[in-house]
Amino acid sequence: MNNLIYKLRKPENETVISFDKNTEERRLLLEEIQRQSNTIIDIPLIIGGKEIKTGDIGNVVMPHNHSHVLATYHKASEKEIKLAINAAKEAKKEWMSLSWMDRISVMLKAAELITSKYRYLLDASTMLGQSKNPYQAEIDAVCETADFLRFNSYFLSQVYNDQPFSSENQLNYTEYRPLEGFVFAVTPFNFTSIASNLNMAVALMGNTLVWKPSTTSLLSNYYLMKIFKEAGLPDGVINFVPGKGSIIGEIVLSDKDLGGIHFTGSTKTFNSLQKQVSNNLETYKSYPKIIGETGGKNFIFVHETAESKEVSTAIIRGAFEFQGQKCSAASRAYIPKTLWPKIKELLIESISKIKLGDINDFSNFMNAVIDKTSFDNIMSHINYAKESKEAEVIIGGKGDKSKGYYIEPTVILTSNPHFKTMEEEIFGPVITIYIYNNSDYEETLKICDTTSKYALTGSIFSKNKEAIKKAYEILRYAAGNFYINDKPTGAVVGQQPFGGARSSGTNDKAGSYINLLRWTSPRVVKETFVPATCFKYKYME
Ligand code: NAD
Repeated sequence: MNNLIYKLRKPENETVISFDKNTEERRLLLEEIQRQSNTIIDIPLIIGGKEIKTGDIGNVVMPHNHSHVLATYHKASEKEIKLAINAAKEAKKEWMSLSWMDRISVMLKAAELITSKYRYLLDASTMLGQSKNPYQAEIDAVCETADFLRFNSYFLSQVYNDQPFSSENQLNYTEYRPLEGFVFAVTPFNFTSIASNLNMAVALMGNTLVWKPSTTSLLSNYYLMKIFKEAGLPDGVINFVPGKGSIIGEIVLSDKDLGGIHFTGSTKTFNSLQKQVSNNLETYKSYPKIIGETGGKNFIFVHETAESKEVSTAIIRGAFEFQGQKCSAASRAYIPKTLWPKIKELLIESISKIKLGDINDFSNFMNAVIDKTSFDNIMSHINYAKESKEAEVIIGGKGDKSKGYYIEPTVILTSNPHFKTMEEEIFGPVITIYIYNNSDYEETLKICDTTSKYALTGSIFSKNKEAIKKAYEILRYAAGNFYINDKPTGAVVGQQPFGGARSSGTNDKAGSYINLLRWTSPRVVKETFVPATCFKYKYME
C-alpha cells in the first residue's frame, strides 16, 4: 500500500567548522590526517556492490608531496566496463520502483553520515588527495556534499508536485520516470561534492549509473562510495569504475542504452564526449541527455567608484584559493587607471603574506596544484607572459615541483585585452590584469563580454547604481553566475544555483530543481471517464 504524502523540512546549509587553534575539531582532523598519511589503501572497482581488483594498478599520491603514496587503485578493462553497464541496467528496475521517500532516505542518511561519523575522514582524504587546506576541504567535501544531498531531496518534492490540471470527464497526471537506460557520470578532480552530486542527483530521480571518477581524486571518491553503501544505496545503482577516461568513454558511449551523461570537467573533454555521442546517434534507443559544466575564464570588473581594499581582497580570494583550481576562479580583471596604483600596492602587500605549502600546516593559505601535467601547463602560461612584450609578471611567477607541485600566486599585467592569458583557461593561481581609461568603461565592458569563449562567473565592483546596471546589461551573457560587489567564487547550494553557458557548459544549474528535471523523462497520462461513442461532432448536424 502506498498512500503516503510526504512533508519535507526545508533544509539549512551545513555549518562550516573553522578548525580554530585548541579546538577538539582541529585535534580530530589532525589525528585523521595522520592516520590516512600512515596507511596505503587499495582501491578496487565497485560493480554491482562487488569489489573487483584487476591487478592493473596505479598510484594515488599527495600533490604537495608526490613521492608519498596514499593508495593504489585498480584500473578497469573492457570486461569490467561492460560488467558495470550491465550492473547499472539490472539494478534499475528495483531502484526506480521504490517509493521516492525510500530514495530520499538514502540521500539524507548519506548527508548525516558525512556531517557526523565520516566528517574528518572526508575532510582529511580531500586535503591529502586533492591538496586542499582544511577550510577548502570542509566547505567542499562535507558542507557542499551534504547540501547537495539535502537540498536536492527537497527540490525533488517540488518536481513531483508539479502536476497538470484535469478538466471534467478526465484525470490527468504526470509520472516522472527516470531516463530509459543508464547514465554515465564523469567527474572532475577539483570538488569532492561534484563527484558526489553528479551521481546522487541522478540516482535520486530513479536512475542508475556508471561512474568514471577522476584519477586524481580517487581517495575521497572511494570513501564516498563506501558512505553511499552504508546509507543504504542498493548494489548496482552507482558503479564505480576508475581507469583511463578515453577507454571507459568509448565503451560506455557506444552502448545502445546510454540514457544520459552527467559531466563536469574541461571543455575539451566535454566536446569530445559530445562528438562521440553524435557519431553513435543511430545506435541509441533514445537521444541521450548530455549535461555538462565545463571551463571558465571568470572576470572581476572594477568601476572607478569601487573600494580598492574590497577589490584586492576579492582578487586574492577569488584567484588564489585552492590554487585557482575552481571552475569559478577569477582569472582576469579589468581595473580603471585611477584605482590601479592603490590596488597594486594592496595586492603586493597582501600577497607577500600568503603562505604556500603542505596541508599539515594550517597557516598555509595555498597548497599544491593537482599534478605534473597541470603544473607544467600553468608554468608554460606564466613563462609565455614572461617572454612577451605585451605582458609583465608583476607578482609571483615561480614554481617548484621537486617535492610537491607548488606555484606562487601570480599576477600578470597586460597591455593587450586579448592577450593569451586573458582568453584561455589556465586553472591555476594566475590572474591577468588589464588597465583601462576610466572614460572607456562601457567600451571595456564590451571587450570583457567578447574576449573569452567561456561564460561561467564574473563580478562587478562599484558603488554607483548606474554603473552596475550598465555592467549587468552588457555582461548579460558573459556569466551564468554574476556577482555584484563580491568575488566570483563560492556559490552555495540552494542560494546561488551554479552553471554557465557558451563554452562553460549546458547551464543546468547544479543544486536546483532545474538540474533534477534533466534526469527525468515525464510520461503524461490522461484517463477519460466516459469515452465518446460517435465520431461526429455536434456542429456537423
Ligand atoms: P578533465 O576534463 O581533464 O577530466 C574530467 C573527467 O573526464 C575526469 O574523470 C577524466 O578522467 C575524464 N575524461 C577525460 N577524457 C575522457 C574521455 N575521453 N572519455 C571519458 N572521460 C574522460 O577535467 P579536470 O582536470 O578533472 O577538471 C578541471 C576542469 O573542470 C576545468 O576545466 C574546470 O573549469 C572544470 N570544472 C567545471 C565546473 C563547472 O561547474 N563549470 C566545476 C568544476 C570543474
